[in-house]
Amino acid sequence: MAYKDEQLSEEKVFKDPVHRYVHVRDRVIWDLIATPEFQRLRRIKQLGTTNLTFHGAEHSRFNHSLGVYEIVRRILYNFKDRPHWDNEERLLCLCAALLHDLGHGPFSHSFEKVFKLDHEHFTQEIIVGKTKVNEILERVEKGFSRKVADVIAKTYEDQLVVSLISSQIDADRMDYLQRDAYYTGVSYGHFDMERILRVMRPIEDQVVIKSTGMHAVEDYIMSRYQMYWQVYFHPVTRSAEVILSKILHRAKYLHESPDYTFKLEPTHFISLFEGDVMLDDYLKLDENIVQYYFQLWQEEEDEIIRDLCERFMNRRLFKYIEFNPNHQMKEWLKLTQLFEQAGIDPEYYLVVDSSSDLPYDFYRPGEEEERLPIHLQMPDGSLKELSRHSDIVESISGKKRTDHKLYFPMDKLKSLEDETMKQAILEILFGQGASKNVD
Ligand code: ZN
Repeated sequence: MAYKDEQLSEEKVFKDPVHRYVHVRDRVIWDLIATPEFQRLRRIKQLGTTNLTFHGAEHSRFNHSLGVYEIVRRILYNFKDRPHWDNEERLLCLCAALLHDLGHGPFSHSFEKVFKLDHEHFTQEIIVGKTKVNEILERVEKGFSRKVADVIAKTYEDQLVVSLISSQIDADRMDYLQRDAYYTGVSYGHFDMERILRVMRPIEDQVVIKSTGMHAVEDYIMSRYQMYWQVYFHPVTRSAEVILSKILHRAKYLHESPDYTFKLEPTHFISLFEGDVMLDDYLKLDENIVQYYFQLWQEEEDEIIRDLCERFMNRRLFKYIEFNPNHQMKEWLKLTQLFEQAGIDPEYYLVVDSSSDLPYDFYRPGEEEERLPIHLQMPDGSLKELSRHSDIVESISGKKRTDHKLYFPMDKLKSLEDETMKQAILEILFGQGASKNVD
């Protein structure tokens, strides 16, 4: 029997708190899960620093990837009558679902920003490069790994396959919303996925929703909206992220300073610092390694890296206020100046962070990121774009919301000895009079 058709003699199941069970029958899927590249995802948290806000959020990219695979498996089961889908096309969808986040690194968000990395690029490299994952995919059929990579990159010719993994209502989002809600313990993020799966219909190159399922989809869109603002963009999580990014900046800076020597050479970071990351280096990076260095750097000679690492490891985070640098330039310049005078390096200790989200969008050709809208299939068979039929979705569609915050170490400000300077800083941050009641 061809490798691609091989079935396990007995179905394997993974116990999963969100989907109850994840079922594996295909030998190929079972073999992919066992690769070192996939197992590495166990050591990368799905939500990065969110566990410092919601302590339950310790789940990994491994959990999420299995979840996305399971959702796609269930969708395919419902679509099984679609005429031209053979076993290879089915396997292609499953592999792409399982491997879609394979290139995520430790604390992806901050690492990507500081070192200008792109996890999607590494996902592609792991799939088509010299890896165990690639060996398995090529055993299915020569060139199969390229197809899997194309589905994930959204360039695969059958857009129906692509839309299962990435669209405004895809298996990826359906899994992470529910999973992140479960592990953070918040009451947002829940929606009736069973119902959505039942009303999904494959039509030519897209998945549409039977109009009777509209309310389940509304619920899903609202869940996403609320999760972004309540969990993903939580200001405390962002405070930890700000500190993390500054640690990375400082470490890079010290590496580039000819007079500075680390007590222990940060071997795993060198290629990142030098902007020349090869796949092998990248695969060795996980959150355990990163935290190992953060632990050690608390004893470095350099005071800034020492302090920032101690903050990150012990959750001594920065405080924040609403602050829009575009409208508050004068305050920004004054604060920078005062911080410098006070000997608190504003480069590391006075940081603006902005987050924005577009909850749902209809199709706008030519825009930066073209988003395919969700279509409802009406009783007469015609298609209608979701926001034209749902008042709830219409009210949030196409609306981008941005949130700006200014982060700073309150404890450092409070311990300033120069009382006049301290008051001057606190007054800009909290307004006149308010500074006296700050803690
Ligand atoms: Zn994902």
